[in-house]
Amino acid sequence: MENYDKLVERISKSANLSAEEIERKVEAKKAKLSGLISKEGAAQIVAAEMGINLDMERLKLNEIFSGMKRASVIGKVVDIFPVREYSKNGRSGKVANLRIADESGNARVVLWDNSHIALIEQGKVVKGNVIEISNANVRNGELHLSAFSDIKLSNEKVDNVMAEKVFEGLKLKDIKVGQSAKIRAIIVQAFEPRYFEVCPECKKRAFEGECKVHGKISPLKRALLSIVLDDGSSTIRSVLFGESINKLGFTDEEIFSLDKFAEKKSYLLGEERIFSGSAKNNVLYNTTEFNIENSECIDLDNLIKELEARP
Ligand SMILES: [Zn+2]
Repeated sequence: MENYDKLVERISKSANLSAEEIERKVEAKKAKLSGLISKEGAAQIVAAEMGINLDMERLKLNEIFSGMKRASVIGKVVDIFPVREYSKNGRSGKVANLRIADESGNARVVLWDNSHIALIEQGKVVKGNVIEISNANVRNGELHLSAFSDIKLSNEKVDNVMAEKVFEGLKLKDIKVGQSAKIRAIIVQAFEPRYFEVCPECKKRAFEGECKVHGKISPLKRALLSIVLDDGSSTIRSVLFGESINKLGFTDEEIFSLDKFAEKKSYLLGEERIFSGSAKNNVLYNTTEFNIENSECIDLDNLIKELEARP
């Protein structure tokens, strides 16, 4: 919401109109587009239609939002993923992904233009470089670069970057499939762990000591734990695998023995933690499930700092 307020303020200054007037225009635009666009996106369109150039200003990575056109940012490359080829709906081409970070946050950058992708392929842009991006479109919180966008190396220093994925402060009732989130919630139910086998070579699911690719193997045993989380807004069935279960305070021995697990289970119920993960669709039941990647004990000092920093 604060991004939106900032945006309205900037447009109102440039247009010499009151903020209320700008907001009315934004609401009208949003209604006209049947609510398919965010308020921020609608404000961008209003600005463009009024001939106001919002592009010159460079944004921090925590200020970008979906629907934005011609965004300009600067960031340090913290991750580069292999260039992939795709073919979809009769079109084919290449796409490259990287992640950049500044001190406010980080974002995935998706390159669709071959001349941009060549920078990655030829090693002209590597991990640790600082790059400047302009004219990017923001979709799903990612910066998408087309042939009209620009990417180049920068000599500016970008330090103290937030390289880790930032999970938005979502509520369970609002979470949608595909979204990542960091949620403060209580464990209200825990089920018995379920066990399955994986191939030691390819780590794929194996059945009765047999891997589809590697034939007879001596499988590794893995565990899956289902719990139910409640954050006050809603409850959600959540799953944890492997190390994520350890992070809840279980040793391997306790995970792989149903008796030992049962003894310790009561300690789980009512436990409040911060869970990070992403929402997935459970195909079997057609429900939304939360896939937990990590959980942390609540650090009161940090929490207070965070609350105080809020405007
Ligand atoms: Zn295998």
